[in-house]
Amino acid sequence: MLHSTLYFLPLNCVLTTLLFGGKHGAFINMHVSLTVYQLQQEAPRPKRITCPQEVCAALFHGVISRDYADELLVGTEGAYLIRESQRQPGTCTLALRFGHQTLNYRLFYDGKHFVGEKRFESVHDLVTDALITLYIETKAAEYIAKMTTNPIYEHLGYTSLLKDKMVHRLSRGRTEPRRVTFQRDEKISSPLVRRSALKDTPEKQCSYEKIHNFKVHTFRGPHWCEYCANFMWGLIAQGVRCSDCGLNVHKQCSKLVPSDCQPDLRRIKKVFSCDLTTLVKAHNATRPMVVDMCIREIELRGMKSEGLYRVSGFSEHIEDVRLAFDRDGEKADISASAYADINIIAGALKLYFRDLPIPVITFDLYSKFIQAAKLPNAESRLEAIHEGLLQLPPAHYETLRYLMAHLKRVTMFEKYNLMNAENLGIVFGPTLMQPPEQNALTTLNDMRQQKLVVQLIIEHEDVLF
Ligand SMILES: [Zn+2]
Ligand SMILES: [Zn+2]
Repeated sequence: MLHSTLYFLPLNCVLTTLLFGGKHGAFINMHVSLTVYQLQQEAPRPKRITCPQEVCAALFHGVISRDYADELLVGTEGAYLIRESQRQPGTCTLALRFGHQTLNYRLFYDGKHFVGEKRFESVHDLVTDALITLYIETKAAEYIAKMTTNPIYEHLGYTSLLKDKMVHRLSRGRTEPRRVTFQRDEKISSPLVRRSALKDTPEKQCSYEKIHNFKVHTFRGPHWCEYCANFMWGLIAQGVRCSDCGLNVHKQCSKLVPSDCQPDLRRIKKVFSCDLTTLVKAHNATRPMVVDMCIREIELRGMKSEGLYRVSGFSEHIEDVRLAFDRDGEKADISASAYADINIIAGALKLYFRDLPIPVITFDLYSKFIQAAKLPNAESRLEAIHEGLLQLPPAHYETLRYLMAHLKRVTMFEKYNLMNAENLGIVFGPTLMQPPEQNALTTLNDMRQQKLVVQLIIEHEDVLF
């Protein structure tokens, strides 16, 4: 969207107030609500003013004064020319006639032409878009400002349909994490007794909030905003589209759309490297199916395997597993007949965590956990870790909870697999948490704390979650 803030245009505001302020406002709003689309049609069309010198006839006029440019353009709305700036030689100025004024913009070129954030193939396109934007923003400024106050979003078939579906399916939300205190004498029941098997964990549905993944989009043909129902004007980059669910809205409306993105499976191409919340929402699950399936397989046939999670499987086979998940989703075959070596499955699970765009312990909370691990007092350390866990996004929290309960069970087979909370901490520390800004030094410095965080969560998973 070309905003008047980008096209520096104080006049625009003055004009709008003069023309449409006061008691005429309501009328204008009513009128405009029907016709933003029409306004785009009415906007002045660009008219090239070529150099008047007989042999020249170019759009570029060289160094001419503002006054002379004004003279050439006067009387024709939409007339434009390019001149070299007198104040800053070597730079180009676009002079454009709009609202009975000549507007001057610094014109840039980097393979495409631009004066603001939108980039255009030709100056003609740029001017067409600028005229539409100026015209609509002038004629309908007040309307645009209020455009978002009465959204149709809730009433749209798109969301209400989804909502019905969701309410139906998602009657049970995330279990609220228990508030716990860490006292020395607290009786900790054995996780073996408390949770005898994975399938005992109630199958919760996913009601996680997810923000939309809006990207600037150029629409072909007329499009209307799915938030405010108004026309999305302009020649290019008229609005934004959510690349996860396909919702189309104005850029200004995108800031008001609630975090109710329901990713469309057809748009989510991959399983690995896909954002955790996006993936579980797309599949309407509590946790990524990769995690559930790998853990199920490992618990079935790998718990006594020496060096489980430490011994690495063949990387080519691990890559195969990744491809299978990306291709077949929950139908991926990771059984013993497909991959006899359990270390391949364990390796694939680690790879899944390592490849997440946002680690399970999120970048935001990374330093909170590192600081927690540095506390000298064991109780306050656990309390700080618990605080951190409560702040994790729900999909991350549920995934970590499930993984940690599994790793705890792995440690119960230590006499066979030789894995305990400490060496699992070494393996999973850097897999589950990565610093927001990766540099060799931080990574090295934090390794001890990363290990300790994971070790402590495994050791105390039953009280922490
Ligand atoms: Zn979305
Ligand atoms: Zn809108």
